[in-house]
Amino acid sequence: MPESRENLRCTISGSLWKNILKETERTGESISHLVERALANELDIAHHSLFQVSTSRALVEGVFGGCLTVQDIKQHGDFGLGTYEQLDGEMIMLEGRCFQIIQEGKAIEVPDAARVPFATITRFTSDFHSSIQPIDSFQQLEESLNQLRPSGNLFVGFKIWGHFNHLSMRAACKAKHGENLVSAVEHQSVFQGTNCSGTLVGFWSPPYSAAISVPGYHFHFLDDDRQFGGHVFDLNADQLSVEMHLESDIHVALPETEEFLRADLVKDGSKSLRTAENGETTKN
Ligand SMILES: [Zn+2]
Repeated sequence: MPESRENLRCTISGSLWKNILKETERTGESISHLVERALANELDIAHHSLFQVSTSRALVEGVFGGCLTVQDIKQHGDFGLGTYEQLDGEMIMLEGRCFQIIQEGKAIEVPDAARVPFATITRFTSDFHSSIQPIDSFQQLEESLNQLRPSGNLFVGFKIWGHFNHLSMRAACKAKHGENLVSAVEHQSVFQGTNCSGTLVGFWSPPYSAAISVPGYHFHFLDDDRQFGGHVFDLNADQLSVEMHLESDIHVALPETEEFLRADLVKDGSKSLRTAENGETTKN
């Protein structure tokens, strides 16, 4: 049976229309064909695209001013993690709902107007589904997921559901004026979760992306009741159900704030990022 055809009627800008005419003249294809091809490309890319807000290097340097709202980032996906203005808690987005995790792991759904200085977002669809055996550490989780990833050179989104016997987590707390990431996480809230069912939302990012994202694995947790979560340091879990989403395209939204434009992003911030993300502090 032939695929049904629909008529599309819409209003676009005069300059875009001129470009369409110019392009059809250049290639000789019909307007219908060009529009269909462009839309198909756009929608397909959108499904395997990472939307990165600001860079990890800027976060290390203390660029904590929000540059986009939650409403803005929801345009680019339904799944992801990050933080809020002034490093005010952990951000987790799951099934299109966006939460803020504050002290002791309390999760609150945020209004669309909340501002975000750093986030990694995607439109999560499952490219691959598997389960992994019980694990008793973050390292074991990494080793199991390493077996599933098809390449060390692609970004991968992971949605992992299961029962967690133990979770060691943190929630960043609002940074004081002028603090960088390492000094700000020295007053983070560190807490434990026991016997909770929920979802790990996270990404694996390749080493070459170190100045833009958090290289390696980065997970935030949200329980099934959407009441409790955090940035995960360590864990112990029963068998886990793993869904993997491969990203073939990355869009980096650079803040145009004064703070970002003036930040010194030249030096290598990898060590500070590891210190902040793995839960060590400069005091120990
Ligand atoms: Zn995190």
